[in-house]
Amino acid sequence: MRVITADSAGFCFGVKRAVNTVYELTESCDTPIYTLGPIIHNEEVVSDLEKKGVRVIEKEEELKKITEGTVVIRSHGVGKKVYRQLEEQGLSYVDATCPFVLKIHRIVEEESQKGKQIIIVGDPSHPEVQGICGWCFSSCTVIRNKEEAQNLELKEGVSFCIVSQTTFNYNNFKDIVEILRKKSYDNNVLNTICNATEQRQKEAKAIAEKVDTMLVIGGRNSSNTQKLFEICKNECDNTYHIQTLVDLDSEMFQSSSCVGITAGASTPKKIIEEVQEHVRIKF
Ligand code: SF4
Repeated sequence: MRVITADSAGFCFGVKRAVNTVYELTESCDTPIYTLGPIIHNEEVVSDLEKKGVRVIEKEEELKKITEGTVVIRSHGVGKKVYRQLEEQGLSYVDATCPFVLKIHRIVEEESQKGKQIIIVGDPSHPEVQGICGWCFSSCTVIRNKEEAQNLELKEGVSFCIVSQTTFNYNNFKDIVEILRKKSYDNNVLNTICNATEQRQKEAKAIAEKVDTMLVIGGRNSSNTQKLFEICKNECDNTYHIQTLVDLDSEMFQSSSCVGITAGASTPKKIIEEVQEHVRIKF
């Protein structure tokens, strides 16, 4: 089988940095290591780290009970309140927030302090978006789609600052901004979608346009993988979201002569290579 694998598939810079940070700590730290939420949306990596003694903290209450050790803030980042909490508890922490996300924290903090209403284009349930909300001086609004943008009622006389979740789909962001711009002239739009995401989405789309089957590899809960899946599915009806080699099924490749592969930012290189080799040889 002919296989085209996207060059941009797999760990992005921010995820690589966060994962390496935790692995390095497991070598050097002799007190407990915790991550605030799974370090990436990849079960294999999380369970490998668990074997090395790294524990995942899921809830604020769990964090409150910790008395010693090192806490790692993952690439998604957290709100200001969490930093305060860590300091109050006297815990040492390593901040592996991606610099692109930190940049959004600074923007919303400064702009909201100037009195601007912050609008975040993204998924309100995503930890990155929740972290960004946690840096807004006043309340912020999260817009997920065009419908929500259309229904949004803007207060007269208030200036707006619009940012986006780093992994948001660029075309959807543009459409939402267009709707919001018609509602208010006093707005400041900052496209904070990270280059890694944009590049990955563009490359995935270009590959999906020309193959018979498209595979998107990534964790079940990975938002950027889900977006990649949507983009590819628009171009190639025969698009499948898989987590590992185990999810492959010969039905996926019926009457296919060329298969495209892309992967979300949390997918280890090893998994991509395994899938690639398997498809090339077995189908
Ligand atoms: S997708 Fe972009 S913003 Fe998110 S962690 Fe990776 S490099 Fe950073």
